Amino acid sequence: MMKDYGLEGYSWFKRLYKHRVKWSTALNNEYFSAGILSSQRSESTNHAIGFQTSKTTSVTDFFGIFETTVRRWRSEEERKEFNGIRSTATSVYPLVDLLLHASQVYTVKLFRIFERQFALAMGTRATYLPVDDPLLVYRVHPAASEDGAHHVTYDCSNQLIECTCRKFQVMGMFCSHIIRVLHMHSVGEILNMYILRRWIKFSKKAVWERLLPSDIRRSERCQ
Ligand SMILES: [Zn+2]
Repeated sequence: MMKDYGLEGYSWFKRLYKHRVKWSTALNNEYFSAGILSSQRSESTNHAIGFQTSKTTSVTDFFGIFETTVRRWRSEEERKEFNGIRSTATSVYPLVDLLLHASQVYTVKLFRIFERQFALAMGTRATYLPVDDPLLVYRVHPAASEDGAHHVTYDCSNQLIECTCRKFQVMGMFCSHIIRVLHMHSVGEILNMYILRRWIKFSKKAVWERLLPSDIRRSERCQ
């Protein structure tokens, strides 16, 4: 586009293009963003504070509004944390080991995202691709179509797995393609390294004390 529209001489466009991985969703799928777009971030800030302020709001008034907002957020966070710890998600799908493990580890909201990917996984087809490699490579695509196919590479010896869709890198949650392959190999647990502390129950405790999800589950059983 820089070439097509003759923008190479414009410093503002050149700078924007130089930093393209920071704003282009097609190019920044190696970075964790929790699936939140930069535009959503500014919109949510506007939604939280912007509607209470105007151009004539003084700094003192703004600070008061900001403090009240943060107090409300923290209170809401405490309430959700309390409810999240004391509830375990149920599912309309049979709780196979992988789904059961996800329901025990993730908060209800995150489990719903995992459950959605699990449901999508059941509607996909995985084809083994023989390659000259000790790793297993599968082509995973919707059963009804070849469109949207991705390649999943799986190392059975240490259960390392990755997918070309990069959902895990961006969102911190397995995609339907990976779940399909894990299900095929009867894997019943998500490895600690694939469970982000921020998505689990007791996430505050896990983050502050740098605990692994399995440590959390052990201490939960001891209580
Ligand atoms: Zn994928």
